This record gives sequence, C-alpha cells and structure tokens, in this order.
Amino acid sequence: MAKLILNRLSKAFETGGRPAVNDVSLEVRDGGFLALLGPSGCGKTTVLRMIAGFEQPTDGSILLGDRVLADAGEMVAPEHRNMAMVFQSYALWPHMSVADNVGYPLKVRGVTGERRSTKIREALAAVRLEAYADRRPADLSGGQRQRVALARCLVTDPDVVLLDEPLANLDRHLRQEMEETFREFHQRSGATMIYVTHDQAEAMALATDVAVMSEGRLLQVASPQEIYARPEGRLVGGLVGQGAIVAWPAASVENRQLDWDVLQQLLSRSHGADCADILIRPQDVEIAGEGVSARVTSVLFEGERYALKLALGDEQVLRAFSRQPVKVGDMVAIIIRSAWRL
Ligand code: ATP
Repeated sequence: MAKLILNRLSKAFETGGRPAVNDVSLEVRDGGFLALLGPSGCGKTTVLRMIAGFEQPTDGSILLGDRVLADAGEMVAPEHRNMAMVFQSYALWPHMSVADNVGYPLKVRGVTGERRSTKIREALAAVRLEAYADRRPADLSGGQRQRVALARCLVTDPDVVLLDEPLANLDRHLRQEMEETFREFHQRSGATMIYVTHDQAEAMALATDVAVMSEGRLLQVASPQEIYARPEGRLVGGLVGQGAIVAWPAASVENRQLDWDVLQQLLSRSHGADCADILIRPQDVEIAGEGVSARVTSVLFEGERYALKLALGDEQVLRAFSRQPVKVGDMVAIIIRSAWRL
C-alpha cells in the first residue's frame, strides 16, 4: 500500500460563493489514521467525497502512491479505488440479515461460497458481532448497527477506509465505547483511515494525525499531542485549545510558551496596538493566596471540581478550575502557570 496524497485540492460548486475546498495539500501515510476536524460547513465532507470518488476536484489532484485517482480532467470510478466509506446513517439494507449486509460487497464482486462465509465471519469477529449474524438491522442497537457498517467495509480489505461522522447519531456513553472499537479496528485492519468529525475530543482520542479545516482551507496538520500543545492561530486554538483566548500586548514577546513571570509583565502593560492572542487553559490557572485579582462570573459544578469563568480587568475572561466551592461575585487571586501565544 502507499500513501494517500492530496495535492493543492480545490472544489468549487456551481452554486458559486467561496470554494467548498480551497487549495488543500496533505499526505496520509500508509496505515495512518487522520481526523479531518472543523466546524460545520468547513469542507470536510467534500474532501472525503473527493477521496472516495463521488465528487471531482475543480483543481489539484488526489494520488494513491504514484497512481492518480483524480484531477480536474480524469477520475477513477469509486468502485475502482479499493476504498470503503462508512456513513453517519450506516446505510444498511433493512431486509437483509447482518451476515448478508456484511457480505454484500463480496457478492457484488462475485465472491461466493466458503470464501465469502469465512470473510463474513472474520469481519463480524473483528467487531465482536459473531452472535448477531442472523439478526436484521432493526433488531440491533445504534452502536451494533455502526459495528455492522464497519464489518461491511472490512470484508473487501480496503486500502483506505473513509468515515463521515460515524458516531454523530450515538449517545455519549456509546460514543466512548465505539471510540475504542474504532481504535481496535484500525489496529487490526492496518487500513489507512480518514475520519471526519467536528468533535475535537473525538479527533484527539482516535487519530494519529489531526488536520484542522476552516472555510475550505487547511489550517494545521499535526499529531494530536502537537496540535494540543502548539496550536497555530486563533481558529485552531479555539477549536482544540479548550481554554480562554485573551488579547494581550505580547506581540513583541519572542517565546510562544509564556510563563508566569512574562505574563505578569504583560498584565502590567497598557493595551496598545500590538496585542497578540494568548491561549490560557483552565488547568494552568491556579487559584492561589496571591497573584492577580479576578472576579468569579460563573460557576459550574462538575462533580470532582468547579469550572469557573473569571473576569480579569474590564474585558478579559479566563477559565479556571477550583476544588473548593466558590460563588459568583467572589474575588480570587490567580497565578497563570503557563500560556501559549497563538
Ligand atoms: P458538515 O459537518 O455540516 O457536514 P462539512 O465541513 O462536511 O460540514 P461540506 O459538507 O464539505 O462541509 O460543505 C462545505 C461547503 O460546500 C458548504 O458551504 C456547503 O453548503 C457546500 N456544498 C457541499 N456540497 C454541495 C453541493 N453538492 N452543491 C453546492 N454546495 C455544496
């Protein structure tokens, strides 16, 4: 197998407006698990549909190794790409048993008899549904249906598995369970996987690489750890940062990782024109006996801790955690252990 390459890929629909996908270049290594992350309408699904062969690029190209799958002139048909796609809606045949649903792609390819049965058994085992082979989709839970859809895409040994928000219809508890299934599925199948989601926690938990998109453009591609520690720019910081973004006069500061000494100096500077966006995560804000003073504006009880919003000065809002109960309106002293200049 070879790596999947998107080379300056663009897609403009005839309805006009800005391109749905705008000059996106990235490489997905063989056996990698890439999450395409971004808000609704940013172009994730359109990228996925171009990779699958359901849409043709208006510019740029898609390659699997040195084989061109699509560019603005040519397009390899979806059935000749050896890819499988799992949809949010599962798209199972209601009148067929689980085993027949899973075996359907083999039937279409003319694989029959013992070979077909073995493949179906293996695929059902991979998603732990051996005992459900004879049921109909209507007699399964949402999570089990999703597993059938996964098993169905395993039977053809695809080079690339494409998943479009596959967990969007499941409740929170089931989502966590299915995240484990996906990880296991990825390890067992060895397939390259591309996973579209608008949920940053899901992207971080599952993928080996995260690609963040906004308004058709690719903003950053990196490992979950890298993107969490060093988000590039306000949009990525807002999506993956899980913290507050404040504007402080820090544009002239050299380091991007800022500690309390630097932050203290920034706090005492007047707000001129050279403000920079600073990401401050709640776990880096310590409620201490001394420090700068902030007013509690919101308190949310989360069981093991309280999640707070704090007003610092006139405009800036920070988020913090507290083990001790606090009330809206209380004044607290805080130390910011570390922050990241976006
Ligand atoms: P969501 O998470 O809501 O599915 P997305 O990030 O997957 O969003 P896309 O579905 O790729 O976004 O859509 C990107 C943009 O392209 C949107 O503005 C959408 O309205 C537009 N678009 C998508 N498909 C078509 C189409 N067939 N014709 C015209 N415009 C389209």
